[in-house]
Formats: sequence, C-alpha cells, structure tokens
Amino acid sequence: MNTGYIIKSITALDDDLGKINRYTRRNLSADGVYTFSVILCDNEIDRDYERFCVDSLNSLAKLFIGKTGIFDHNPKGQNQTARIYDTEVLVDKLKRTSLNEEYTYLKAKAYMVKSDKNADLILEIDGGIKKEVSVGCSVSSIKCSVCAADAKKGCKHQKGKVYEGTQCHHILEKPTDAYEWSFVAVPAQKNAGVTKSYENQDKEDSKLRDNDTLIKAFSVCDEEFTLTKAEAMALCSHIKCLEKTAELGFAYKQDLAKEVTRLSFLANDQLDTAVFASVASKMDIEELKAFKSAYEKKLSSFEDNVQLKGKDKTFTQATMNEFKI
Ligand SMILES: [Zn+2]
Repeated sequence: MNTGYIIKSITALDDDLGKINRYTRRNLSADGVYTFSVILCDNEIDRDYERFCVDSLNSLAKLFIGKTGIFDHNPKGQNQTARIYDTEVLVDKLKRTSLNEEYTYLKAKAYMVKSDKNADLILEIDGGIKKEVSVGCSVSSIKCSVCAADAKKGCKHQKGKVYEGTQCHHILEKPTDAYEWSFVAVPAQKNAGVTKSYENQDKEDSKLRDNDTLIKAFSVCDEEFTLTKAEAMALCSHIKCLEKTAELGFAYKQDLAKEVTRLSFLANDQLDTAVFASVASKMDIEELKAFKSAYEKKLSSFEDNVQLKGKDKTFTQATMNEFKI
C-alpha cells in the first residue's frame, strides 16, 4: 500500500542536525527539534491497483527532500509542521511483494521544531496515534502491467481486472514532482492513498458522455478509445439491461418457433418435423409470425372442411392434441 507510516521518533545526531539546519534560519540544537522516521511509499501494489517501480522510488527519494508534511493534504502554511531532511531507499530482504519482488521502500527522516503549537502532534506520533502518512506526487508515465502500453492514453485492460490469471495494475514511472506528504488524521481512512497525478479525473466525470454518444463514437473510431470509470459503469449497466431484454426476446422467439413447428405438423405440410424445427429455429420473429398466421388460416379452413364433410377425419381434435414438442 502506498500510504506510508511513521516508524518511530529518533534522536537527532550531529549528522541529522547538519542536514536539518540547512532548512532553518537559526541553527537548532538537539533539544529544539523533534525527529522521526517515516515510510513514504513502497513497491507493493496499492488499493488503487497501482505501484511504484524501484526506479520511481529512487527518483522520489531525491524529490521528497526538503518537502513539508501537512495534515490531510491541506497545503495551508499554518499546517505545515514537519519537513523531510533525509531520505533513503531500502530493501527488506525478508519481505517479498505480491509480485514476488524484494520489498523496497522509501524511508524519510523528518523534523519538527518543538513548540506549543505542535506539542499535541508530537504526543500523537509518540503515542502511535498519528501513524499513517500519504504522499502526493506526479509521474510522467503510467504503464499497464499486462501490455506495457501507456495507460494515460488507454489500453483495453482495466486495472484490478484479471487477464489470464494475472491481475492488471498500473506501474507509476518517472516521477516528475513530489508535492507533499501528509499525516492522515484518520488512520483507517480507506481512500487516504497516494495523491497521484489524476487531476483531470473528476473534471472528465463531470462531462460524462451518455451511452448513445459513446456508441456513435465507437462506430467511427479507428484507434484505442478511453472511457472514464463513470462512463464505463453506465455503459455496463446499459449492456446488462439489454442482455435481460435479449433473454426475454430469445425465449419468446423459441416459443414461437415451437408453435410454428407444431402448426406445420398439424397442417400436414409433408415436411419432416425435425427439418422444419431446424429451419424455424433460424427464422426471425417476423418470418415466424408470417408462417404462424399462414398455418392458422390453413388449419381453420381444414376445420371448416371437416365440419362440412363430417366423416373425413384426417385431422381430428384428438390427433391435434397428441402432438407436443
Ligand atoms: Zn494494457
């Protein structure tokens, strides 16, 4: 998961103070700063079916140095409480990712100036209450794990879906900027993941294209076509609805074909019943209706003849009722 967490508070050593004091107006002493380490992100697939590659973690390590940590992605100066002064990419040899790669993570060290204003936050970090952090960054390449295509342009795979036993996810590559990292106020918050470069997503959803527009667009497009999540969901429910209607239509057509086959037999058409049943199954509803109406006319004229001739009972009611498919 790309929501990182605070590991522990650390004691600022001279080396740390040297790095910290690059960001401060006055030189701080070990007593004046509170330092802690934090895992910002890793190479595991996150809740959004996305992961950073190890190269991305290395780039982010450089980009996150000097970045301030805030509460809940609220970039107001007053909330900027901690700053990253050192980062490193580490490998946990004892842990494998779900893709069976070595678990690799970006660890950062951050400091806060001890003050009344952030005393509560320091207590919360020490007490393990403020544990989760999330990071905001942008990447210039997002790759589909199935076909390696640029997922920003779109491919036929959907992240989270399984293709031939492998779940599709997106690989975040070539980070271009690290905006911020923040303390997540509610650690259990499900969507508090990495804020990646998806600024356009909501805007696209607000100008949702309707199904008719999309279907028209499909018929004329000659290359890959990208749908927003909301559009894909609307299209799915439309297809489900059509499937239901088609099921009912198919059942009606089958009943009609059986009825026409039965009438063909009764009308003594000299046709093999099995052959006619096969032909009827291939007719469309209009053709079946035409046959039905023709046979019904023929049969009603038979009945008239039977009534007139009396004894000529080629087709009695009994034989008609015997026939069942
Ligand atoms: Zn793909």
